[in-house]
Amino acid sequence: MSKFLSKRHQDLAPYTPGEQPRDGKYIKLNTNESPFPPSGKSVEYAANAAKKLNLYSDPECTPLVERLAGLYNVEKDEILFTNGSDEILNFAFIAFCDDTVVFPNITYGFYKVFAEINNVPYEEIPLKEDFSIDVNDYIGINKNIFIANPNAPTGLLLSVSDAEKIVRSNPGNVVVIDEAYIDFGGESCVGLIHKYDNLLVTQTFSKSRSAAGARLGFGIGQRELIADLNAVKYSVNPYNINSMTMALGVGILEDEEYTRSNCRAVEETREYTKAELARLGFEFTDSKANFVFAKHRAVGGEELYLRLKENGILVRHFSVPEIEDYNRITIGTKEEMQRLVSTLEKIAGGKKI
Ligand SMILES: *Cc1c(COP(=O)(O)O)cnc(C)c1O
Repeated sequence: MSKFLSKRHQDLAPYTPGEQPRDGKYIKLNTNESPFPPSGKSVEYAANAAKKLNLYSDPECTPLVERLAGLYNVEKDEILFTNGSDEILNFAFIAFCDDTVVFPNITYGFYKVFAEINNVPYEEIPLKEDFSIDVNDYIGINKNIFIANPNAPTGLLLSVSDAEKIVRSNPGNVVVIDEAYIDFGGESCVGLIHKYDNLLVTQTFSKSRSAAGARLGFGIGQRELIADLNAVKYSVNPYNINSMTMALGVGILEDEEYTRSNCRAVEETREYTKAELARLGFEFTDSKANFVFAKHRAVGGEELYLRLKENGILVRHFSVPEIEDYNRITIGTKEEMQRLVSTLEKIAGGKKI
């Protein structure tokens, strides 16, 4: 720390991203990326856009907004694109949060970090024993709420009707539903936005849309909410989406069928993985995301993480007491998961359960 660091940030505890080794030595099942590359067409669009990088990008993201509006049946001014969905989550903290913000005690680690850097007090509501969210804890609490749906790292999905109860009962506060993993078998809350002026739904191109490295996310909500978020964006970084990412995103949205079929493949492989994990003595949640959240009955979470790493497979372990027995394992290709299973057979197969 330098002597110049602002007093405001002396205690900053930044988000810790999963390991991102660059040597290609590992099967990477630790940060929930898609195992499939972006479509050839979208990559070509991005390469063409590179030829005009001497010009600033379109701050309104016009071609992206137009396509997404058609796809999600919303108006253009009900959409804001951002540099990853992390950026819109931060914008939501900046734009809407003065008093206490609420989120589950086990959820996406960035909510806490955004609260802290924006000096917003927060309250973490414990999940139930089975890691599910108790909807009653969020009814009529008159606080801004952030919920990942499906939740991470548990993968558990809240129904649209349960999410709606939370949104409806807190009309004086903003409820952010973070749908980073909604495309793997969940039902989106986007259909509710015309009914509730306090609902912001966020999604990302990082998981289901094979573009984590391009950094593209978006939020959908009523136009007043989006206007507020836009005011923040234009106060921070008007050109937040670069031209190559914009072009890539357009190509991805033109190829919705490719996205859908990749998601179906991931869902199938997820269910295959669950069946194999059960056979090997694991317990796991009923994840509806592109990962499973599992613990072995005899091998500890950290030990399993380390043994897998020795064997060339990276998964995500969180050193948090409530979930230290677990690992979050991204669903890769079928072949990658077969490698995982055979490696787990070696590590855990002989253990008494
Ligand atoms: C991955 C993830 C995000 C954001 O990812 P971006 O790459 O910034 O779009 C947001 N919320 C959750 C719960 C995530 O897992």
